[in-house]
Amino acid sequence: MSSTSSPSSFSDTSSRVLVVGGGYVGLYVALNLQKKVAAHGGVVTLVDPRPYMTYQPLLPEVASGALEARHVVVSHRRHLPQTEVITGTVTAIDHDRRLATIQAADGTSLELGYQDVVVAAGAVTRTFPIPGLAEHGIGLKTVEEALTLRNKVLERIEHASLLPIGSPARARALTIVGVGGGFAGIEAITELEDMARQAVAANPRVDAEELRFVLVEAMGRVMPEVTAEQAQWVVEHLRSRGIEVLLDTSLAAAVDGVLELVNMPDRSPARTVEADTLLWTAGVQAAPAARHFGFPLDPRGRITADATLRILDAQDRPIAGAWVAGDIAAVPDLTGGGVGGYCVPNAQHAVRQAKHLAANLWAARSGNGRLAEYKHHNLGAVAGFGKHKGVGKILGLKLKGAPAWLIHRGYHGAAMPTWERKIRVLTDWTLSAVLGRDTTETSDVATPYRAFQSVAASPPSASVAGR
Ligand SMILES: Cc1cc2nc3c(=O)[nH]c(=O)nc-3n(C[C@H](O)[C@H](O)[C@H](O)COP(=O)(O)OP(=O)(O)OC[C@H]3O[C@@H](n4cnc5c(N)ncnc54)[C@H](O)[C@@H]3O)c2cc1C
Repeated sequence: MSSTSSPSSFSDTSSRVLVVGGGYVGLYVALNLQKKVAAHGGVVTLVDPRPYMTYQPLLPEVASGALEARHVVVSHRRHLPQTEVITGTVTAIDHDRRLATIQAADGTSLELGYQDVVVAAGAVTRTFPIPGLAEHGIGLKTVEEALTLRNKVLERIEHASLLPIGSPARARALTIVGVGGGFAGIEAITELEDMARQAVAANPRVDAEELRFVLVEAMGRVMPEVTAEQAQWVVEHLRSRGIEVLLDTSLAAAVDGVLELVNMPDRSPARTVEADTLLWTAGVQAAPAARHFGFPLDPRGRITADATLRILDAQDRPIAGAWVAGDIAAVPDLTGGGVGGYCVPNAQHAVRQAKHLAANLWAARSGNGRLAEYKHHNLGAVAGFGKHKGVGKILGLKLKGAPAWLIHRGYHGAAMPTWERKIRVLTDWTLSAVLGRDTTETSDVATPYRAFQSVAASPPSASVAGR
């Protein structure tokens, strides 16, 4: 089915702002524009296959059961009441005709006209053609992945507890390997380690000493966002918790959970680790959807922009009515601090660029004033490594241990969009502090029909059924 349509309540499509993606950038662009655009008879339309924005920095805490999964997402419909929300994927943009094609999960397709388009489709996990990775690995970009990771680790502990002590299968079930020593990877493996130790403490059939955590990093150091000295402290901290840290090491194959590790850069064989859980957090790449939007891309697949956040054409001239920001965009970093001259992909830039873009888009529409250039000095970064542990560098101040962990919580509590979500997250943290993490395994959410099907497949006898 294909149609050009607009709901009656949003009738003026000629002044529509179409926002492609409802993550950090999409949510904040819509929040900043919805009232103004509506007041002038137009509409902001936000399209995303997920009906919520995901607060990704808190995914490691979902993976460890410190936070309830639904509490780290922000519902588009609830918090964008003056925005037309469409749950679907933008599959093509014809900017010359100001027309976008949208597809819902069930295949229903829709064409929408617009005046301005804001491309905010973010990034996906960066992967490489490694045999077995797609089948055996799991990323950490979505709340579903975080929840699955949590359940998998807990389910494997239960499974291992029934296997003979010392058997290879038991060792493998209790081995968790993380590939990628950036912020997300280290936060995730440390949070999982905290959770797994708590789960094992409640299970007399498994000894904490049997748990094995391995962090694999292709570079010679971890966490490029902090100083070399702090990165070294992080490695020592992980090792003090029994996490093996393999630097200058990469994953060559993961077929059936047999992980072939190689030394970098020569890729000579290093060692083999068998693990049932393989977490992959080796960076991000611009959303592949960018290729279908018809705008020029840089060699890394990002949509090229100028500092006013307008998309550039092949001659580096801004395209009227076309805007981009966040992880999918190559935005020049005017502070001179970015990688290769461009802003790095992080939430700090995404939120600020979104607000900046909204102001520029409105200025361009209303003809009021010049478009301002985006310039933001990095404030630093702070990471949580499980209860009372962390590291950070904020405004030049180096932190580690409990102070870093506290600032991490304070920062993310404050940065979580909307009061409704802040309250849920703060309540979860308070409950976890008082009651401990929730280590209840709920793997069956992945097979919700199993319980019913098992009884429906073998119905009760006629006499019982006839009662
Ligand atoms: C585990 C983890 C921890 C992190 N921790 C930090 C941190 O501590 N500090 C920090 O600054 N940053 C952190 N980041 C990075 C930060 O989350 C991202 O930089 C930020 O989300 C980028 O915002 P965005 O709007 O560009 O993309 P996203 O927030 O990823 O949103 C993109 C949206 O576009 C949607 N989309 C994709 N394709 C389409 C399409 N074709 N049509 C419609 N919609 C589409 C997606 O569904 C998604 O909702 C972390 C990331 C991860 C994964």
